[in-house]
Amino acid sequence: MTSPNPASRPATRPVTLPTLLGIGPRAERRRRTLPVGLLRLPTVGIDIGGTKVVAGVVDGEGRVLEKLRTDTPHKSRSPKVVEDIIVELVLQLADRHDVHAVGIGAAGWVDAERSKVLFSPHLNWRNEPLQEALSARLRFPVVVENDANAAAWAEWRFGAGRGEDHMVMLTLGTGIGGAVVRDGYVDRGKYGLAGEFGHMQVVPGGHRCPCGNRGCWEQYSSGNALVREARSLVAEESPVVEPLLARAGGTPDGLTGPLVTEAARAGDPVAVELLYDIGTWLGVGIANLAAALDPGRFVVGGGVSEAGDLLIVPAQEAFRRTLSGRGFRPEAQIVHAALGNEAGLVGAADLARQVARRFRTIKRHRVERAALS
Ligand SMILES: [Zn+2]
Repeated sequence: MTSPNPASRPATRPVTLPTLLGIGPRAERRRRTLPVGLLRLPTVGIDIGGTKVVAGVVDGEGRVLEKLRTDTPHKSRSPKVVEDIIVELVLQLADRHDVHAVGIGAAGWVDAERSKVLFSPHLNWRNEPLQEALSARLRFPVVVENDANAAAWAEWRFGAGRGEDHMVMLTLGTGIGGAVVRDGYVDRGKYGLAGEFGHMQVVPGGHRCPCGNRGCWEQYSSGNALVREARSLVAEESPVVEPLLARAGGTPDGLTGPLVTEAARAGDPVAVELLYDIGTWLGVGIANLAAALDPGRFVVGGGVSEAGDLLIVPAQEAFRRTLSGRGFRPEAQIVHAALGNEAGLVGAADLARQVARRFRTIKRHRVERAALS
């Protein structure tokens, strides 16, 4: 790696407000050069999913020291209910650990200031000032981050993205989450919404997507796509699907993504084929992303990636067949994520750590039980 010519740089560079606030590429680059002791401050990461909130204390090496979980079974839960759950979990963890900051990984659109959740499909959140609300109650620095960005950061720091300075992460769950980590920072775009790769249109006039469009990539390469295709075979009364259906208790409702993945791993030929199709679409989309972004590595995580090579190998094959300029350019690697379903939590905690350092140098507040009132 070459360093820039010192003569071409001004002697001192002004520290901008975003840098002071720990936002933006320069702040994150500064953070990476912090003394080791400060990097080790424990912080809490929160993963807000569709049906649960998981909170964990994470140390500076990305290890989860303790994890707590609360289920949120009601579809109509309000932001206030989730907020209460987060506060309670953080206070419990802070009783037992010397916590310095809280990072929230939320499924949804988070603004560029990492403060508001603009929209969340699971939680009916619209323009929700989550960071402000939680900071007021917790007296901790709080950072709100898109869950895919948080997972990508974790993989880059501690997992399958280590050592790669231009990485794209894809999280295949019900849809496709995406994020770009470049030169040691998360590329959030101008408005915080970069990386929504799942809604790139790949089939004009194709399957309907909840985003309102048709033919989005995630309608062809995700857990939802896997289930839809399995159920459509059942609807066609195809005899080839009978063993798979038997595994599902004989009803199409029993056909879930994890069940198809498990069947494929056990050698069920239809399940293997279904995953092959998902993987092929994955590779095609990755080739498009390589044309646009040219990263060195694609890291594939999320529940569907538990199929391992049954997903990744067809993706690699389709990628090589579809890549523009193939044969005349270096090819990006496509690899499995390393951190599993803890990536979002670990990444959110680690992104909060930079804020913890600043907070500590100003004044340490202890968490007070009164914050709950
Ligand atoms: Zn869409």
